[in-house]
Amino acid sequence: MAVEKVTVKEALQRASFRYREAGLEQPREEAEILLAHLLGWDRLRLYLEGERELPPEAAAAFQEAQERRSRGEPLAYITGKKEFYGLEFKVTPAVLIPRPETEFLVDAVLEWVGKRGAPRGEGLVLGDLGTGSGNLVVTLSCLLPLARCWAIDISPEALQVARENAARHKVEHRICWRRGDYFKALEKDQPPPRFDVIVSNPPYIPGDALDCLPQTVRGYEPLLALDGGGDGLEGYRRLLEDLPRHLRSPGLVVLEVGDGQMEAVERLCRERGIFKSLAFRQDYAGRARVLEGLV
Ligand code: GLN
Repeated sequence: MAVEKVTVKEALQRASFRYREAGLEQPREEAEILLAHLLGWDRLRLYLEGERELPPEAAAAFQEAQERRSRGEPLAYITGKKEFYGLEFKVTPAVLIPRPETEFLVDAVLEWVGKRGAPRGEGLVLGDLGTGSGNLVVTLSCLLPLARCWAIDISPEALQVARENAARHKVEHRICWRRGDYFKALEKDQPPPRFDVIVSNPPYIPGDALDCLPQTVRGYEPLLALDGGGDGLEGYRRLLEDLPRHLRSPGLVVLEVGDGQMEAVERLCRERGIFKSLAFRQDYAGRARVLEGLV
């Protein structure tokens, strides 16, 4: 296919226009991230060298990637990466793409360790249940270099991606990796670890709402990471069932909660009878999203 000669600037303008037509929310930003990725540049360079002609291979690759994107494939799967808490994470279709609202879980842990006088994670044991790309456990391992961290996921493919992310950020050997269903993954560890901090962003989409997810999510992201069973709360139930045996006091549990599920998840937590207090924080859209339980 003959590709017409265009400058970097023109290519970006055309792509943003096309994306806007396709209804993408951040057309310009997405076009820049994609082209910068294909050229191996940072985004600033797109502006500094905007008048440069786009090499034909890059123009063709840009064209092809835009077609994939316009059909609904998430940008992060096309570029193979996503930023979370200022760190870059590899992502593949085996893992959920980290979302900005999940960064609030990191904030909640940092605040708690600060109050406990262990700002570098001194003496703390931290568990991430359903680690996916490893965004939470890797970020927390980087920020709390003295904490002992455990990462659990039921999917071997996801664990592989998480380990690569940990290696990339030089924390792979500080994390214990376990495959399995939440705390059941620890059955062979004798004595089983007891945690000071548990973080989790379990799958929480109710079964009958899966079909209503946008095609860009439903058609591409792993069902395992989204499907929360009938009422969307199955993950929380399984996690909370074994929680008391695995938590030390004083301890912190930080859970991401789906839109509109806070009350129900709070109720499930209260039924466990182990929490001294339960509080929530809101996401950028003002929705109650992160549940923080103290034991
Ligand atoms: N812990 C990962 C995240 O927060 C994966 C969550 C999941 O797969 N449900 O993005």
